[in-house]
Amino acid sequence: MAPETLTATLPPDLVRLNARPAGKADAIGEAAQLLIAAGCIDPAYADSMLRREAVANTFLGHGVAIPHGMVEDRNLVRRNGIAILQVPQGVEWNPGQTAHLVVAIAAQSDSHLAVLRRLTRLMQDEARLTGLFTVDDPSALLAALNEDQPSAAPSAPGSDLAERFEWVVDYPAGLHARPATAWVEAARQSAARLQIRHGDQVADAKALVAILQLGLRAGDSVVVSAEGEDAVAALARMKTAITRLTAREKADAAAAAQKARAPARGWTPPGALPAVAGIPASPGLAIGPIHVLQSAELTVPDQPVSLIEGGNRLHEALTLTRQHLKALADDTARRLGPSEAGIFTAQAELLNDTDLVTLACQLMVEGHGVAWSWHQAVERTAASLSALDNPVLAGRAADLRDVGQRVLARIDPALRIGSMRDLPDTPCILVADDLSPSDTAALDMGRVIGLATAQGGPTSHTAILARTLGLPAMVAGGGALLELANGTPAVLDGQAGRLHLTPSDADVASARAWIDREQARKAEEEARRGLPARTRDGHEVEIGANVNRPDQVAMALSQGAESVGLMRTEFLFLERADAPGEDEQFETYRAMLEALDGRPLIVRALDIGGDKQVPHLHLPHEENPFLGVRGARLLLRRPDLLDIQLRALYRAAKARATSGHALSIMFPMITALPEVQALRAACDRVRAELDAPPVPLGIMVEVPAAAIQADVLARHVDFFSIGTNDLTQYALAIDRQHPELAAEADSLHPAVLRLIRLTVEGAERHGRWVGVCGGIAGDPFGAALLAGLGVRELSMTPRDIPAVKDRLRASDLSALREAALRALDCETADAVRALEGTLEGGEA
Ligand code: PEP
Ligand code: MG
Repeated sequence: MAPETLTATLPPDLVRLNARPAGKADAIGEAAQLLIAAGCIDPAYADSMLRREAVANTFLGHGVAIPHGMVEDRNLVRRNGIAILQVPQGVEWNPGQTAHLVVAIAAQSDSHLAVLRRLTRLMQDEARLTGLFTVDDPSALLAALNEDQPSAAPSAPGSDLAERFEWVVDYPAGLHARPATAWVEAARQSAARLQIRHGDQVADAKALVAILQLGLRAGDSVVVSAEGEDAVAALARMKTAITRLTAREKADAAAAAQKARAPARGWTPPGALPAVAGIPASPGLAIGPIHVLQSAELTVPDQPVSLIEGGNRLHEALTLTRQHLKALADDTARRLGPSEAGIFTAQAELLNDTDLVTLACQLMVEGHGVAWSWHQAVERTAASLSALDNPVLAGRAADLRDVGQRVLARIDPALRIGSMRDLPDTPCILVADDLSPSDTAALDMGRVIGLATAQGGPTSHTAILARTLGLPAMVAGGGALLELANGTPAVLDGQAGRLHLTPSDADVASARAWIDREQARKAEEEARRGLPARTRDGHEVEIGANVNRPDQVAMALSQGAESVGLMRTEFLFLERADAPGEDEQFETYRAMLEALDGRPLIVRALDIGGDKQVPHLHLPHEENPFLGVRGARLLLRRPDLLDIQLRALYRAAKARATSGHALSIMFPMITALPEVQALRAACDRVRAELDAPPVPLGIMVEVPAAAIQADVLARHVDFFSIGTNDLTQYALAIDRQHPELAAEADSLHPAVLRLIRLTVEGAERHGRWVGVCGGIAGDPFGAALLAGLGVRELSMTPRDIPAVKDRLRASDLSALREAALRALDCETADAVRALEGTLEGGEA
């Protein structure tokens, strides 16, 4: 922000306390008089201020109005200034809107934005703001408006707050968005003011963009300081958050470096071919013409609307985008792991940046349209990040633009850019400057066989997502890539990070042979994964995959899945703007069964509520959603949702009846028997209506009450599947998403293991089987203990399957049973984990 501020020179005679204007026009007139008297404006500007009211609403909200003149009358401003009218009784600004502080602004350029930013910040401190409505000391008002909050302008260049510690950045990739997000989360847990200083640059520790703007690289020295009530504790928490990440950052960098060292195993063309070299990002060869993606230039029209409408639309778009990103992060975390999900969490955090949102609001207050203002705010912020010539920040600028685009498409769906629109119909190697996570996630795999980008690094989103999709990719190929002609034939080697151009027939034949050899090697690997998880003494555990969509089934099977033990159907609802109807759900379940080709499928009925909120269902807000109307409790209150889903499921069972449907249904978040009885009755009714075949009905055991009463519930169900993620959360009273406590929520805690044991015992009494589909099933040691506890089926993220199978195959059931008994007797989760070293087969 420009160092020149309006308030820095605000003299007391520009403040009028206890004013009693007769109405809005009177208030504007009085404020204008102060500005005229101070020589800030030409008297004609007072009229311009009134005219502005006719075309725009200058009520900012929370009792604050900011009258100002028309843009075209800026020439009537003689010098920058603001005048404040304090109206304790209030003056009606618009019907239903009362202003207590009238802040009249005269500004030649955008220097008044500093005042607006402070006002918007003040609005977040309701108590302080309300105090200013009646305060009888003008200096308090002046102080509030002169004071810059930490992220905007630190106390003084290079100065620290009262409590401090120094730290040298030891994250090999510098402070990129994922660790920075963790810093911000830690900082926001305390009321104290916290700042990070690097040299002369200071950033508010609670503002993500400000922190990223420091551009911290490995080896940089920073001072973290705090001030305020709990400053010491806040600083300690910050230190823990910062240093705790070091190990993970180093491990990530080591893994990336290892991948980068892999090129030796790439393909060597027989002829000498021109090539563009980059960094290997995702292994494999792709043969085909290249298609250079032109970055789509977006024109956002400036269509002013009232400030209220604009504010509401922006607020709604931000909320929906945050919810969508959260759903994406949640789904990605469950499918791939927290590291990949971090992309979306970090993007969501960018949306919480007050500077960014305030800038958009300010542009709207100036009279610009909401989409235009948002786009400008994103572009200006992204440009300031890219301008610093730091690769870490350039990456963040791309993230910001990507997330900005998501919001823009929510504000106005017509502004959704489809950069992938013009792809040729035949398969191509896509060449682009960079790809955003949304671009990569939206790739049409039928038309894109490989990716080569000019920018990015081995840990960039493109690289991570390409590996996830199994698509050969190279990154950081440089600008030369973009100059290539569309349609140039090429061979992309994702393992060596090379794009070989114009291959001869012999080169293509050699590349094909290489692909065939690789496929044969992979098939061998898959065959090993395809062996059953049979212990050395002959006990078999069924291994399922947690898969939500039919197109993910093939990948799960290639990892060695024998079934789908958990299909989370709420994801059919989460990533869209409306609820899928019966026919659409039927098609999905039928396609799942088809993809599984006779293998078992357990579909979980909708588990909405808790951490999985579906905005379009307009469910009432809950103070404590994990303990509220969630899962089965919601289904029983919303027969519309339940019936549609059950009808779709029974129709799918009926459609596949001749080939043996292998479908089971289970219900989440069951606490008590009456729920089971009511859900069973609903199933019986729907089945009778459709004349469908019987379907085994199970429940998830994820509430301690259900585990304790397992012997009672087992009489009424066909199977149990333990949701250890929730069972752990409810048994240990730790919110599964809690940033600080989540690490302590270990599903191998003896208390959780005892609940699992109770569940198995209760089930065995009635001849029922028990599976586990929570995260611990995918942990090789956890899986071994679960098998020892009598769990018969384990369902997990597909990529965890090979290691779990290997672990079980290297064990004897008798030894696993003994280990499980010892684990039940352990005093702590750490003691359970320590058993791993004593268990035979652990080295497998
Ligand atoms: C669980 O709670 O362990 C589970 C598998 O369900 P979700 O993670 O979807 O709540
Ligand atoms: Mg659960």
